Amino acid sequence: MTQSLKSTTSRCPVCADPVLAEVVVKSNGDGKERVFLKKSCGKHGAFETLISSDARFYWLSKGEESGCCGDEKSGCCAEPAAGDRIGFLGRNAQLNLVPDDPKPFHKLSTCLALIEIVDSCNLSCPTCFADSPVGVGDKIQATSLADLKTRIQGVIDRKGPIEILQLSGGEPTLHPDFFELLGWCHENPGIDYVLVNSNGARLAKDQEFADELGRRMDYGHFQFYLQFDGPAEG
Ligand code: SF4
Ligand SMILES: [Zn+2]
Repeated sequence: MTQSLKSTTSRCPVCADPVLAEVVVKSNGDGKERVFLKKSCGKHGAFETLISSDARFYWLSKGEESGCCGDEKSGCCAEPAAGDRIGFLGRNAQLNLVPDDPKPFHKLSTCLALIEIVDSCNLSCPTCFADSPVGVGDKIQATSLADLKTRIQGVIDRKGPIEILQLSGGEPTLHPDFFELLGWCHENPGIDYVLVNSNGARLAKDQEFADELGRRMDYGHFQFYLQFDGPAEG
């Protein structure tokens, strides 16, 4: 079954001429709905491109607060809590409303910004992607709080609100001003959601840190992001 979602404009993949296009959702009888972009060029014929292998993600990424896949088990249908900033991916993007603008593109927003706030780490994984030096106490190599604020605010001022800000490293919880930075992020109206990418070592061993982190969870737009690897499948 094919259902049309909207008409739009695109470009021919061969000659790059502007062409009319249609976004359609198709169900294949396997219970899955996929979203395609169909377009046709007078010189080069018809094209069909898969733009989302899961129609539910298409709804989430549309950026409309009213956008909903209709499946009540899906996150996009959940009623936001009072005063909640929903933070759907793409919600800060702005439609290009300039009449006759030859560029049929939307102004992009920053869906995801990742900033490494600490170089050092309290583990020494042989496979470390960041080549982080081991460092605790005085040996921690960290970017200063003032510098981090300037860099993050610079992204917001240039590109508009950040939907998800990831604080990464090294091990970000080693930053000497970690909670001050977190508080500043939470109070910043230009940041919808904060993720902290952590190895969990400090959380496991430092009760005072864990207690304070627990209090910060009340903010609601915040995830402490852990990864667990093991020799066998979980
Ligand atoms: S925990 Fe992460 S940052 Fe630290 S050494 Fe391991 S891979 Fe590198
Ligand atoms: Zn063409």
